[in-house]
Amino acid sequence: MNTRIRAAILFSGGDAPGMNALLRSFVRLGRHRYGAAIFGVKDGYLGLVRASRQALYNELHVESLVPGFHLDWNGRGQQQPLVLLNDMSVSGLAARGGIVFGAARCEAFKDSEVRRQVGDLLGQLGISFLAVCGGEGSLVGAARLAEETPLQVIGIPATIDNDVAASETSLGFDTAVNTVLSEVRRCSDTANSHHRVLVLEIMGRGSGQLAHCAALASGAEIVVVPERGPLSAEKIRGIGERIENSMTCGRRHAIVLIGEGVSRAADASLGATGASGPAHDLAEGLQQFFRRPGGDFSEVETRASVLGHLQRGGPPSAADAILAARFAAAAWRAAVSRTRPSGILAVTRGRIRLVPFGACSNKTKDKQLQRLYRLQKHVSKFTVGQSVA
Ligand code: ADP
Repeated sequence: MNTRIRAAILFSGGDAPGMNALLRSFVRLGRHRYGAAIFGVKDGYLGLVRASRQALYNELHVESLVPGFHLDWNGRGQQQPLVLLNDMSVSGLAARGGIVFGAARCEAFKDSEVRRQVGDLLGQLGISFLAVCGGEGSLVGAARLAEETPLQVIGIPATIDNDVAASETSLGFDTAVNTVLSEVRRCSDTANSHHRVLVLEIMGRGSGQLAHCAALASGAEIVVVPERGPLSAEKIRGIGERIENSMTCGRRHAIVLIGEGVSRAADASLGATGASGPAHDLAEGLQQFFRRPGGDFSEVETRASVLGHLQRGGPPSAADAILAARFAAAAWRAAVSRTRPSGILAVTRGRIRLVPFGACSNKTKDKQLQRLYRLQKHVSKFTVGQSVA
């Protein structure tokens, strides 16, 4: 093959809008700017593990894949965990949601011996550069591979959770905020019409970034995130009082967003086992609060709704589509730089820079969240009477 660099790209963890746009930009830029040969890995780390196992039994035929092979999974190459890509293979991916290469979680990759085999295989194939696109967990896997093998590994933050400590934002996050925003607006119409309190459960695992940004954008009254501790009886009472205050001021409804990762404190005297999730727990707790003896708003009804997987799919927003191309360009700049460093592409104050794996703590992210929390709290506050300057 008449090319200088051989690179591979994989997508790991949960899917995020913009991953396919990234793949398209990565392939086109790599080929046209640097004359690279680019392999796509199916099913994330699982694909690499499968490929190294197939190689052990001489069943891997990467070279047999023709350039021009198109990414439909019915044709030739379907069984191959590694495919050689060209411009046509990634045609039509700019606006496509999900991950055309498939996503998987792979426990086996946490074993250093398995990673060594993967490193050996990529070395044998002449692949010296690997781009890993995923969330915090996937980038830990990328860091391990960079430490333990001669590969240059670049991690690209891509997750709707926006939980990658090093980067202010991640690919897919802007789209997910917009998706949640439009859903919250719809729910708000119903809450308003029926004078209800609606508790909506938002994705993000241990991160409250998505819930916070969606709350700020939509004007939701309250947001509850995992970073601020479990759902306790005191917290439920505080939220109930805040909603009652707004109702005293004339409000007839409220929207509460709660992160899916919020756990239930032992003192929260709720029914069942908590298996129904935090939105149902909070809705039940608030209903009990409104119906307490002597409460002024005992007629208020609360309802819970889980937004679920609709938050993950869909075409990328303009911001994410542009970020995808910028990430791809930054990944190639690192690949062709003299020192060929490994690390994470981090967005800091709007710029993309390469930072070493593990160099960033969660502190910046925590501060970012605290600022969002204060902003949201003050923006959505209701008090009786007029403010006096
Ligand atoms: P996300 O990337 O969305 O945070 P996960 O946390 O599930 O998703 O991680 C995705 C994959 O990354 C895991 O299935 C595993 O293959 C790999 N991974 C996660 N943590 C580690 C680790 N400590 N060491 C090696 N690989 C890891």
